[in-house]
Amino acid sequence: SADIAMFEAKNKGRNKYLFYNHDMNASLVKKLQIENDLRKALNTEGELQLHYQPQVDLKTNQIVGVEALIRWIHPEKGFISPIEFIQVAEDKGLIVSLGKWVLKEACSQLKKWQQQGFPHLRVSVNIATKQFQHPYFITDLTQILTETSVSPHSIDLEITENSLLDHTEDTINTLTNIQNLGSGIAIDDFGTGYSSLSYLKNFPISTLKIDQTFVNELPKNRGDRAIVSSIINLAHNLGLNVIAEGVEDEAALNYLKEENCDQMQGFYFSRPVPAADLTELLKGHSSIAK
Ligand code: C2E
Ligand code: MG
Ligand code: MG
Ligand code: MG
Repeated sequence: SADIAMFEAKNKGRNKYLFYNHDMNASLVKKLQIENDLRKALNTEGELQLHYQPQVDLKTNQIVGVEALIRWIHPEKGFISPIEFIQVAEDKGLIVSLGKWVLKEACSQLKKWQQQGFPHLRVSVNIATKQFQHPYFITDLTQILTETSVSPHSIDLEITENSLLDHTEDTINTLTNIQNLGSGIAIDDFGTGYSSLSYLKNFPISTLKIDQTFVNELPKNRGDRAIVSSIINLAHNLGLNVIAEGVEDEAALNYLKEENCDQMQGFYFSRPVPAADLTELLKGHSSIAK
């Protein structure tokens, strides 16, 4: 295909000449550039980084966990959003290396925090569908946990409903393996996928993360109030933990407290920040909203 032809041309060092044809639109060229540059970034120290966003317990106001979120600082283009490159990484077979890098970095950092006086802190790591469905996922995960001496009980894997769409034996085996290791499984962006609710009673899920589109306009949007309250009740009736994403102001926070939501994440408390800044938040040195 044109896509492969151009990639080969670029690899032969003729990347000054881009061979356009009628099928090759700007978005394809952009994806190929992302693919090429991401391969380089994976081998360049510092281009990829993790930021961390606190997950705050609504009863104690304590930071109980952090979500690791990848950041790519491209040498020429600057910041590139994960929304732009995670899908490309999945399409081009780079997600396994990228995902391993994220897991290893997040676990190493968690170990440091646990040794610095926060032994109960947890880390949540986003797992893309193709990474979750890869046959070596459990092997890689187990190896990284061993290498970094992190307890599997300290980590949560965030997957989306899309990763569970096909209720195959492989999916069930992977989930059961994660459960047997002792790690948590969180459903990210809950309520926005295409799957039925039936997986909730059959699969070993531990947490629902309410998608931020339902949270942003709380409490003034009546539909959002109904959806959020129902998800919280659904989670609790199933014995699951529930986290609200995208809490941007005190009004939303208060509504979630009244509804007994367990934890929250959002700009109101903190944006995702570099590890050093998160250490300051953990030590209580920087101010946080109460
Ligand atoms: P997500 O896992 O649902 O992460 C939440 C996103 O919401 C993050 O965007 C976070 O910065 C943003 N956010 C947090 N609080 C607020 C808030 O109060 N208001 C608003 N408007 N946004 C908020 P980010 O970091 O750009 O990540 C976007 C998505 O990219 C993530 O959504 C996740 O699906 C994916 N992603 C990020 N890092 C990784 C990774 O390491 N691996 C994989 N597979 N996917 C990742
Ligand atoms: Mg997430
Ligand atoms: Mg989410
Ligand atoms: Mg999302």
